[in-house]
Amino acid sequence: MRVVFGGTFDPVHIGHLRMANELASYLSLDKVYLMPCFRAVHKQGVGASSEHRLNMLALALESDNSIALDDRESQRGQASYTIDSLQELRQEVGCEPLCLVMGTDVAKGLASWLRIDEFSKLTNIIVIRRPDEQYSGLDKERMLEQSLEALSFSPAATVEDIKMASAGKYIMINLTALEVSSSHIRKSVKQGLSIRYLVTDAVREYICDNALYQN
Ligand code: ATP
Repeated sequence: MRVVFGGTFDPVHIGHLRMANELASYLSLDKVYLMPCFRAVHKQGVGASSEHRLNMLALALESDNSIALDDRESQRGQASYTIDSLQELRQEVGCEPLCLVMGTDVAKGLASWLRIDEFSKLTNIIVIRRPDEQYSGLDKERMLEQSLEALSFSPAATVEDIKMASAGKYIMINLTALEVSSSHIRKSVKQGLSIRYLVTDAVREYICDNALYQN
């Protein structure tokens, strides 16, 4: 099974790392892949270059064998869409299960993604409840489930179900919720506040050495 967690990672922080690490053990996998986009289609004009984001990811992943980098989108050298990566990944894994991981904040916007109607043929979806969503009302969660079902994903009763399905299933899970976001980190750097313990030390030094997120 291939499990890929896409994002901007601008910068990668302990919330991403803890989530990927915990997911690997939750799914009894050797590795979970982080796949940074070259440029976020929906977040243009903010943050660090693709090269800086990749360098920070490489530093952050140095000491954790359970998380690996999938740099295919960065290597394309231009903004690209998740559907392109899913098609490539599907070719690589054959009929093995493929899972795209995302937080509830991202899952809510899925309906607007390019060629979303093709996703359920290519991948499963694992939705991680974000800290601010963990205690949200059942109605909100049911709405998200209904939107995934409208996109032809069917609910997986257990995590074993997802592991058996090549594509077309979704599951929503709770992992340790760390209240940290890249936008909070960028804002803190800009304001001259400490980001110690929100990112790894190597990433913090990289941000400082390269004067990232100052403007
Ligand atoms: P920003 O604050 O700039 O929106 P972000 O912190 O949400 O960034 P992204 O790179 O946009 O990070 O997110 C990549 C993926 O990581 C998304 O699926 C998002 O839901 C998830 N994610 C982000 N922060 C956390 C966290 N603290 N815990 C678990 N998942 C997270």
